Amino acid sequence: MFEQDDRRTQIAAIFLLVMNLTWGIIQTIAGFALFVRYWDRPHYWYRGSIVTTEAASQRTKLHGGISLGAFIFTTYDLSKDELETSRLIRHEYGHVLQSVVLGPLYLPVIGIPSIVWARFFQAWRDARGIDYYSFYPERWANRWGKPSLQRQTCEVARSVTVIEKEDDTPSSRSA
Ligand SMILES: [Zn+2]
Repeated sequence: MFEQDDRRTQIAAIFLLVMNLTWGIIQTIAGFALFVRYWDRPHYWYRGSIVTTEAASQRTKLHGGISLGAFIFTTYDLSKDELETSRLIRHEYGHVLQSVVLGPLYLPVIGIPSIVWARFFQAWRDARGIDYYSFYPERWANRWGKPSLQRQTCEVARSVTVIEKEDDTPSSRSA
């Protein structure tokens, strides 16, 4: 029973990685560039994505976390065990799933608005007491980052199936 669950989890992880290496390749390439830049930091395999910890530098002033396709970066020093319980990693993983579903639309719909919101609206948020996670890309990432991997993958697989079904006409099915 447990072994089968493990196997399903592994298959789900590989499915997500393959999706990010194809449909989500644009942001995965950007993520790879950042991965190379932080090559000397610790890296971990996390449910079909690659997490780089301690990805901080004085120059970029990156703070917290960022996700680009199959890659997650956090400025924090997290151990392998801490990844499992980290709310930040779960949130970033929500972005990984957004990348799988949105593909080439990830950067315009999620990535760029999210970076602009994080980078330029802090004073504005502070003055009005507005929560960082109230903005749609962040609220959405929190929602998808929460459930178990199997449930997440089901949701993603369903979204992908819906897209595929649109051109699944009776003639192509019998062919
Ligand atoms: Zn986010």
